[in-house]
Amino acid sequence: MTYQGLIHRYGQYLDLPAHTKTISLLEGNTPLIPMPRLSAELGCELFIKFEGLNPTGSFKDRGMTAAISEAVGRGAQTVICASTGNTAASAAAYAARAGLRSIVLIPEGKVAAGKLAGAIAYGAEVIQIQGSFDDALSLVVEITQKTPIALVNSINPFRIEGQKTGAFEICDDMGSAPDWLCLPVGNAGNITSYWAGFKQYQKGLPQILGVQAAGAAPLVLGHPVEKPETIATAIRIGKPARGEEALEAAHESNGRIIAVSDEQILSTQKILAAEGVWVEPASAAGLAGLLAESAVGKFEAKGKRVVVVCTGHGMKDPSIITESFKSPKIIPASYDALVDLVGV
Ligand SMILES: *Cc1c(COP(=O)(O)O)cnc(C)c1O
Repeated sequence: MTYQGLIHRYGQYLDLPAHTKTISLLEGNTPLIPMPRLSAELGCELFIKFEGLNPTGSFKDRGMTAAISEAVGRGAQTVICASTGNTAASAAAYAARAGLRSIVLIPEGKVAAGKLAGAIAYGAEVIQIQGSFDDALSLVVEITQKTPIALVNSINPFRIEGQKTGAFEICDDMGSAPDWLCLPVGNAGNITSYWAGFKQYQKGLPQILGVQAAGAAPLVLGHPVEKPETIATAIRIGKPARGEEALEAAHESNGRIIAVSDEQILSTQKILAAEGVWVEPASAAGLAGLLAESAVGKFEAKGKRVVVVCTGHGMKDPSIITESFKSPKIIPASYDALVDLVGV
C-alpha cells in the first residue's frame, strides 16, 4: 500500500487522544543515506538521516502532524507557536491543510529567508518580536494559558509523540538501533523525542551525542544564556524548554552534550555538501560534534554504526552560502568565451 504518513504508519506507538483527527502531508519516511567516504575517514559506518526531505524541509513536520491532528480533533480554530523558523513553516503548512488560523512569533531579523518565506507562503500571520526565541516562547505560553488558542511548540506533548517516529524509522531501516546517534540540540525537543522513541521501540539503545552551538550552549555551560548568538539560527536558544530531559537522555544513554563553534558548523556544512547532502547550518552541528570528538580521540569508531540526524534542508538558509562565496563569473553568451573560461 502507498505511504500514508506518520500517524497512519506508527499511530499505534503514539500516545494521542481518541479525538485526534489525522492531518498529514505524508511527512516522515526520510532516507537514511550511507556516507562511504566519511565512514572510511572516521573508521565507522556512518549514515545521515536526512530530515530536510520532509514536506516543509525539516523534522518539525513529524511533531506537527501529531500536534495539529490533536488540536483539530478537539475543535481548536487557531494555533500559535514561537519559532526560530522551521516550526513556523511547519505549523503554518499543517494549519493550512487543516483549515486553521496560524500565528507565529519569530525573533526580529533572526530567521533564515527560506523559513520566513515558507511561513508566509502557507498563510501564517507572522509577527516579529523585539527579543529572542526565548522571549517569544514566554509570550506564546502566556496567551495559550489565557485564551483558547492552541500551542504547538514542542512543550506540547503531542509534538514529542510525533517526533519519536524518527527513532522508529531508524530502527526499522537498520534492523536495530545504531551505536551512536548524533544530533543538534536547541530547545531540546528532538533529543528528548529520539530517546523516548528508542526506549519505547525496544530495538536497542544508541549512545547520544547532542551538539549545541558554542554561542548558545546552556546545556554545556550549565546555566541559561541570556543573549544566545550563532549563525545556526535553528539552535539559537538560551533557555531550552526541555533542557532537563536532554541532559537525562545524554546521561542515561551514556552519551554527552557538547558545543562546537560556528566555524566548525560551517566547515561541516561544506563537508556534507561535498557528499551531495546540503543542510542548513544547525543541521551540520551533529556531524561537526562527531568530527570534533573523533579529532581529539574521544570517539571509539571501530565497528560502530553511527546515525547523524540532519534536521533541515540547506535551501532554508541560502544566504549563508551566497554571502560567503563570490558570485558566479559573467561572460558574453559566446562559445569561445565559454571554452576560454572552462579551459578545455
Ligand atoms: C528545531 C531545529 C533544531 C533544534 O531542535 P530542538 O528540538 O529545538 O532541539 C535543529 N535543527 C533544525 C533544522 C531545527 O529546525
